[in-house]
Amino acid sequence: AEGSAPRRIVSLGEEVIQQIAAGEVIQRPVNAIKELLDNALDAGSSQINIAVKEGGKKMLSVQDNGHGIEREDLPLLCKRHATSKLRSFEDLDNLSTLGFRGEALASISTVAHLTVITKAAAAVAGLKICYKNTVLEPPGPLPCAAQNGTTFIVDDLFYSNEQRRKALGSAAEEYARILDLLGRYAISRPDVGFSCKKQGERRPDLHTVAGTSAQDIIRVVYGASIAQSLLPIELEEPGDKTITASADTSFSFTASGFVSCTHYSGRKGIFIIRINGHIVQCRALEHSLEAAYFSYARNKPFIYLDVKLPGDQVDVNVHPTKHEVVFLHQEEILSCISDAVECLLQGPIRCHCMRSIA
Ligand code: ADP
Ligand code: MG
Repeated sequence: AEGSAPRRIVSLGEEVIQQIAAGEVIQRPVNAIKELLDNALDAGSSQINIAVKEGGKKMLSVQDNGHGIEREDLPLLCKRHATSKLRSFEDLDNLSTLGFRGEALASISTVAHLTVITKAAAAVAGLKICYKNTVLEPPGPLPCAAQNGTTFIVDDLFYSNEQRRKALGSAAEEYARILDLLGRYAISRPDVGFSCKKQGERRPDLHTVAGTSAQDIIRVVYGASIAQSLLPIELEEPGDKTITASADTSFSFTASGFVSCTHYSGRKGIFIIRINGHIVQCRALEHSLEAAYFSYARNKPFIYLDVKLPGDQVDVNVHPTKHEVVFLHQEEILSCISDAVECLLQGPIRCHCMRSIA
């Protein structure tokens, strides 16, 4: 019948391909912030400052004091699949960086106006450059005053995509997402100072000082009542017992962090999970923790867990936003962790809540 003839197959143009790929990586301001935070941490920064306008929809900037970018690398900075972090596919097994795909800046420069100011410690002056659709805008790098490190300024996110813009929440909602993410990063990296504020305001809405204890950062970010109710948790598998299991069922990991005691009564569960340095969502782990918790305390927990697995046991490459990870022996590992949490909740409670009651 008419209309049922097959349509011809054609290859998409480079620009369309880039737009589609960028849309997967950057869906809202917080995704851009996450990528820029990861880059700042990969650059060895000890201080990272964020400023936003309209929840990041109008403008967001991330300033770091990391190693900066060499002038010769600037033409490749936003090129897709260009990275300083990965050389071969095998490198993925023992990756020490958060980024590796060379996709974030390509995506950001495709969906927004991107300006970069950078200065490597050895350079005499800073350089300022704008990027559009992954390439340098003429006239190229211009000298400017700058401190050591790099600042990324992202203006008019989704300027050419009205649909995407309309799908975003209010400025307050998008800003809340950014603060939530930043709190998670701050807790997992007490060695780095973070700040976040609305552009033009003096007071940051989140501010942590490098070198503060994780527990103090939790107090700053989530408040005193959570910070007071924390029990430290620490586990290592296999512990000191000898493993007899065959090679293909043996696994190892460490986990450390804090869980709230049975006296804490949060209205919603807060799970901050970090696996091999990546802040991720791991619904399976959240569910098993919630279940473990529910048998001892009829309320929702606060849990921060920093899990380390051998590199060849995890795949961080399954999701475009690297939001979810997949790891081997998931079931065994989850039950080890939830057993340990149950054990902790059963045992003599040593949190601040009890001390103040006793
Ligand atoms: P990836 O992080 O996967 O390598 P990106 O697109 O996020 O890809 O970044 C591309 C490259 O730009 C990085 O490999 C790094 O060399 C450089 N870069 C990005 N952000 C920074 C930064 N804040 N400081 C120094 N170099 C950076
Ligand atoms: Mg990156």
